[in-house]
Amino acid sequence: MIKNITCKELEKSFVGDGTKTIALKSTNLSFQKGEFTAIIGPSGSGKSTLLSLIGTLDGPTKGHITYDGQEVLKQKKNHVADFRFQEIGFIFQQFQLLPTLTSLENVLTPLFSRKVPYNKLHRAREVLEQVGLGDKMNSLPSQLSGGQQQRVAIARAIVHKPSWLLADEPTGNLDTETGEKIYELLKNLHAQEGCGILFVTHDPVLASKANRIITMKDGMVISDKVGSKQ
Ligand code: ADP
Ligand code: MG
Repeated sequence: MIKNITCKELEKSFVGDGTKTIALKSTNLSFQKGEFTAIIGPSGSGKSTLLSLIGTLDGPTKGHITYDGQEVLKQKKNHVADFRFQEIGFIFQQFQLLPTLTSLENVLTPLFSRKVPYNKLHRAREVLEQVGLGDKMNSLPSQLSGGQQQRVAIARAIVHKPSWLLADEPTGNLDTETGEKIYELLKNLHAQEGCGILFVTHDPVLASKANRIITMKDGMVISDKVGSKQ
């Protein structure tokens, strides 16, 4: 269970048709599992890039990330995939549920072909109960509201008991009230499960409720402070 994530001189650039975009510039950051961190900043400021690097979905152009001191990306590909499975859960703005699968089946997908020390079906039912969807286990995504679909996505993100949840604008497609409920659910998961949470949002009101608020602009962290409200 990873407790600390450290980014050292982290940089990511993309090259395409003769142009180079530096999405993230020499970033130094450290995250502790006990923190609930909000990441805020305008579109294109590098928030998603930072999250995908931290989640080992992509590799940096320069610099590195260590997880409790280990540079995971230096390991073999299947080790990186195992690490991601054990430690990281992702939640996206677009939910990314499979439309032909029920809630229960969607939640089971990360466990497919994985050996785990618990009963998969039991665990999937348990997390769906936890996010308040005990009565929607057999519904298809099209039969659910946006907020309910995001709850299924959250259940899927926590089913494998990750130590970190990376949420990329999880409330971006939801109305304010539903967004607040999703935010509260993530806060409860943070308190109950002890997951470290990185929460990207456009909403300054939601961000202000976090323990720590990181503001990004043009691929750089321009402010990193402790939240005023807890
Ligand atoms: P944010 O999530 O804050 O909106 P992103 O991290 O998605 O910002 O993007 C930061 C910058 O990097 C933007 O200029 C974006 O166009 C660019 N970028 C992101 N991903 C890619 C990619 N796969 N290929 C080329 N450019 C990219
Ligand atoms: Mg983004």
